[in-house]
Amino acid sequence: MNRDATLALFRRAGALLEGHFKLSSGLHSGGYLQSALVLQNPADAGALGVALAAWAGALRPGVVLSPALGGVIIGHEVARALGVRAIFAERGDGTLMLRRGFVLTAGERVLIVEDVVTTGGSTRETIAVANAAGAHVVGAVAIIDRSSGAAELSVPFHALAQLSLPTYDPAACPLCAQGQPVTKPGSRPS
Ligand code: ZN
Repeated sequence: MNRDATLALFRRAGALLEGHFKLSSGLHSGGYLQSALVLQNPADAGALGVALAAWAGALRPGVVLSPALGGVIIGHEVARALGVRAIFAERGDGTLMLRRGFVLTAGERVLIVEDVVTTGGSTRETIAVANAAGAHVVGAVAIIDRSSGAAELSVPFHALAQLSLPTYDPAACPLCAQGQPVTKPGSRPS
């Protein structure tokens, strides 16, 4: 699945919105992606998983690790395509961690899977969870990279589509300056 096909899925699902949004990173933006609207369609989620697995297979991951909640569904679909298990990290006391009895073994080859990368902060946190368990992160993938290349990761990274949606520090946000009310739609906007 190429960039145009990926973005077409988002547009068709109404998952690419314009307005004035506060993202989970705290930054403001005039564009907002709600990937859950795409992933609610199992056939589309599966196709995206197959496309990401096609790139990641060469890294020979043994397990997929995703940050909850946004990465869970696409992580599961990538894992299905790779024939490996899918686990997720979630917040406890504000810190991302493995819960529910999920275990990574020392040296296990881990692929990080996200829905949307905005700043890379969430991806870096998830990499740190795997590293803390002694596992080996072989790479990271996302459906969409909206960081404009700013998300510097310590591992090989691939996204199906790059999308330039400018983000602003709230103190320097032109939409705030115009007096537009800011909204924080849904859960964990990306
Ligand atoms: Zn703003």
